[in-house]
Amino acid sequence: GDIADGLTRGVEGISASVSGVFFEPVIRLGVTGLSRAGKTVFITSLVANLLDRGRMPQLVAASSGAIRTAYLQPQPDDTVPRFDYETHLAALTGDAPHWPDSTRSVSQLRLSFRVQPSGLMGAISGPRTVHLDIVDYPGEWLLDLALLDKSYTDWSAETLARAQGREFAASYLAAVGGVDLTARLEEPVAKELSAEFANYLHQARAQGFSDCTPGRFLLPGEMAGSPVLTFAPLPKPAQTGRGTLWREMERRYEAYKREVVKPFFRDHFSKIDRQVVLVDALGAIHSGPKAVEDLREAMAEILGAFRPGRNAWLSQLLLGKRVEKILFAATKADHLHHRQHGRLTAIMSALVRDAKDRADFAGARTAAMSIASIRATVEETLNHDGQNLDCVRGTLLDSGKQAAFYPGELPEDPARILAAAKSGKEAWLDADYEIMRFAPAPLTLKPGEGPPHIRLDKAAEFLIGDRL
Ligand code: GDP
Repeated sequence: GDIADGLTRGVEGISASVSGVFFEPVIRLGVTGLSRAGKTVFITSLVANLLDRGRMPQLVAASSGAIRTAYLQPQPDDTVPRFDYETHLAALTGDAPHWPDSTRSVSQLRLSFRVQPSGLMGAISGPRTVHLDIVDYPGEWLLDLALLDKSYTDWSAETLARAQGREFAASYLAAVGGVDLTARLEEPVAKELSAEFANYLHQARAQGFSDCTPGRFLLPGEMAGSPVLTFAPLPKPAQTGRGTLWREMERRYEAYKREVVKPFFRDHFSKIDRQVVLVDALGAIHSGPKAVEDLREAMAEILGAFRPGRNAWLSQLLLGKRVEKILFAATKADHLHHRQHGRLTAIMSALVRDAKDRADFAGARTAAMSIASIRATVEETLNHDGQNLDCVRGTLLDSGKQAAFYPGELPEDPARILAAAKSGKEAWLDADYEIMRFAPAPLTLKPGEGPPHIRLDKAAEFLIGDRL
């Protein structure tokens, strides 16, 4: 009776969990990049193309037919927001296509595949299930790893030194100059300083600067307004008595590291197997040499997170587990004629070279690519004063008008861009790299067709192909 039933249920429960653990492998794919790098668009198009497999010839498991079906499933982590795939896809594929809302926080989506193994194995065993858990998170949050090793005094000194050279920092620096660092903390003063500082960081980002810690000041999520996000860098005064403005800011900075930074690395980052780092390299090139140099520095910081041993706390947490593959992808390649894609990839590689060498050393396989998650343009060669110009044509985001653009020629030698960036000059000497913003093109997708892209299939093959 009851006992026997209970026993059977118990046995079923065990066999279900055994099969879950042993026969249904899970790939945890992290998708990151600084804000506006293209994470949301990447995941949306990747999932749409994987679900339909219509435009994935370079993903071998798709083109060979090994993937029998792909379907979305409830994710395993109940407390992490779900990546809002359906809404984002509707934005891109509706009657009036528009870009979806960008990543603000961490989110997750589970895509599952039924895969028929090929060869002898396939003949013996039936199809198996492989789960792909996609974890979307802001690259800004990775920058925070560097804070774990940094005292408030050092972080403040570095941040203030960087701000000195920037015009748009004037208001924040004036606010710092106007407070008494040794006075007792008054909440309105702390709030004002932190708001000024956040405003400065937002402007720095808008100007193309990438090194903008603390990451949560740009993308606060549900913690906006709480004391852990109400601090700012201040020069260290001679006296730092208890309860003073400086001392309290130092306390909050430490709380930020403990309550915000560490939980993210523990709960999300430490579980990732494969990682794609999206980079808006073209956007930075457009913004000028300083933005490129800043992007290079930010990439080195970001990639430090994938370097075991760099941070003692993180090494302890990972216990030898490491990311197996990292893809560095320059996004929005549809802004360039394909003739220049190789050059963009070379710049992408050069940007991450330092960090990449170290990640290679740590055993992760890495690759660099130029991709477009959604292709919003078509190529067109125009004749201009007897010269052929390789252009791209699309609908301009601002005016809604169709236009063909010649975005300028990227140098063949990526070192030229990096050297010019390091020189600290305001503008490029001999080139004018124009970047326009295109609206997503209206799509009429046939059943089984994913949105058009550039090399998204190649990216997928690198990231997950060996596991399918
Ligand atoms: P996130 O902040 O990393 O989530 O960035 P999004 O995915 O929201 O992308 C930011 C913006 O970049 C979008 O709104 C688009 O304007 C642009 N974008 C992203 N991916 C592409 C692409 O593949 N092609 C083009 N032309 N634009 C893109």
